[in-house]
Amino acid sequence: MKQHNFSAGPSILPHTVIEKASKSVLNLNNTGLSILEISHRSKGFVDIINEARKLTKELLNIPNEYEVLFLQGGASLQFYMCALNIAQSSGTGGYIDTGTWSTKAIKEAKKVRKIIIAASSKEDAYTHIPKNVILNEKIDYLHFTSNNTIYGTQFHDFSKLSDIAKSTGAKLICDMSSDIFSKEFNLQSFDLIYAGAQKNIGPAGTTLVIIKKSILEERNNLPTYLNYKTHIDKESMFNTPPVFSIYVAMLTLRWIKNLGGLSIIEKNNNKKAKIMYAEIDRNPLFSGIVNIEDRSIMNATFSLNNKKLETRFDAMCHSAGISGIKGHRSVGGYRASMYNALSIDSVSVLIEVMKQLERIA
Ligand code: PMP
Repeated sequence: MKQHNFSAGPSILPHTVIEKASKSVLNLNNTGLSILEISHRSKGFVDIINEARKLTKELLNIPNEYEVLFLQGGASLQFYMCALNIAQSSGTGGYIDTGTWSTKAIKEAKKVRKIIIAASSKEDAYTHIPKNVILNEKIDYLHFTSNNTIYGTQFHDFSKLSDIAKSTGAKLICDMSSDIFSKEFNLQSFDLIYAGAQKNIGPAGTTLVIIKKSILEERNNLPTYLNYKTHIDKESMFNTPPVFSIYVAMLTLRWIKNLGGLSIIEKNNNKKAKIMYAEIDRNPLFSGIVNIEDRSIMNATFSLNNKKLETRFDAMCHSAGISGIKGHRSVGGYRASMYNALSIDSVSVLIEVMKQLERIA
């Protein structure tokens, strides 16, 4: 039975993309070779990575002064790499602490810099986006996580942080792992964006990095692999790139483009989130976990008010073919991840199960 895949990541990919990718595992574009066995220097792959780069630029409206990279090491390596590479004047990085992933970014950055926490919602168990940003010293950059995959909170407006960065001369850095390509936004407010692929981009294995070249300085003392300039100079081919992951990312970006781009994707995502949260709020058995105004469009976190009903709800979800809605172990409850490829029909199936539980409980 085809599952309704609510997994937080790796997560659902468009069915047509998986079909095409599986055909290409056997025979890539009638070459008689599998995508898994071609050289990354072959024309076949160079065309693929060039198209992935071009589609990223087109969909996100990226001007020429930025570089698009497909790296490895996940978003987790970027926590360290961005702190290491950004040109230093004060030496300090400012961070917005919104839970697990930003906390990890802070931990890594501390290894190479002084950092300050400019805002945090830790005291409230990360159930909202902190609104008060306080910078009591000069910072080189301001880092935040646009969507908090585990807690289910999201920055819906980047303008405040972008204004702060502009007025203080700080670069703006964002971990967009779980909401890039989910909506339109003004990329030019950012100096560096990174995102692990395994949500809205493609399968795990590659990490998208979008970087304004002018924020880097000549730093020959950095480890070669950890220097963005290495990858810029070699067009993401300094060493063997994750060929399959980049290929499927390219197919997924083509799928987004063919649907009509990010404005259509955004509309679909808003529709799904709207009906999902409406049911969480309407159904007396369930409660949302985070503040309403900061709820994520991608990851809806909620819990059953009566924990004793969990076993029954889990069994009903299982029979309906609903997969991957258990909340992260650090938060508990449930999490419905509604990435781009998840259809509104899958959300409706989950809502129907929630209603059914209400009828029989
Ligand atoms: N940041 C966010 C927002 C994430 O959701 C994740 C993983 N789910 C990460 C960073 C870590 O990504 P990776 O596993 O690619 O290192």
